[in-house]
Amino acid sequence: MDFEGRRVIVTGAGKGIGRATAVMLAKRGARVIALTRSAADLETLEQEIGCTSIAVDLADADATRAAALQAVPADLLVNCAGTTELEAFLDVSVENFDLLHAVNTRAPMIVSQEFARHLVADGRKGAIVNVSSCASFVGIPDHAAYCASKAGLDGLTRVMAKELGPLGIRVNGVHPTVTLTPMAVKAWSNPEKAAAMMARIPLGRFAEPDDIAEVILFLLTDAARMVHGLSMPVDGGYMIA
Ligand code: NDP
Repeated sequence: MDFEGRRVIVTGAGKGIGRATAVMLAKRGARVIALTRSAADLETLEQEIGCTSIAVDLADADATRAAALQAVPADLLVNCAGTTELEAFLDVSVENFDLLHAVNTRAPMIVSQEFARHLVADGRKGAIVNVSSCASFVGIPDHAAYCASKAGLDGLTRVMAKELGPLGIRVNGVHPTVTLTPMAVKAWSNPEKAAAMMARIPLGRFAEPDDIAEVILFLLTDAARMVHGLSMPVDGGYMIA
């Protein structure tokens, strides 16, 4: 997979799956435009891969649009930034519900709008990958706001695919299972919960960030030129049962 000369926006590029994706893209020739919150992460990423860095809190809609406008033009977009808060359904707070939807659902919409507008104005083709989750397909205890925000993202992916496909922009979703990143530590550090999750994965392990990044890169390339509107689990078989 060769990304030579391609400009790729990656949100959440500071840590975890987004960082692995940014590093893999850069190793394969892409110019990465990294959007994330932590300036310290951007600094180390810039040292590692020589990316363009844009620090932004994606929970802030106006700041997100300004960052997206700063990031374009680009050929490809990975909406990877995401966040979670664990709360039993009866305890879900409106603040956390709104925060998760702002970061996990609204920010991909805003960044994609500016990315797509620019491509269309330039008369160029492109591709978008939205990083969703297996949690959008199933009900996971203590993940009500997260599951809802990712299911919302899936709805967005499907409509984007319908509307942007005719304009030459492919849109797909990637759905990781538990992936060993800082977020997974937050969500799955309870050994009992982790064991029950692992028991549902026939391949017998959680994912590594590079396992997900490889699939994201594939969906961005022309090798996937007829793949559009897909919700692609990367889950070691978790969704079978
Ligand atoms: P991490 O928490 O490891 O990294 C998330 C990245 O997104 C960080 O760089 C973080 O920056 C950034 N980010 C989070 N909130 C904001 C914000 N408000 N503004 C700007 N940047 C923000 O997460 P993962 O790598 O694990 O997750 C990446 C994606 O994959 C997410 O969308 C997640 O929902 C999804 N996913 C992850 C799974 C897992 O098990 N890890 C499983 C299924 C899906 P900062 O640290 O500075 O806040």
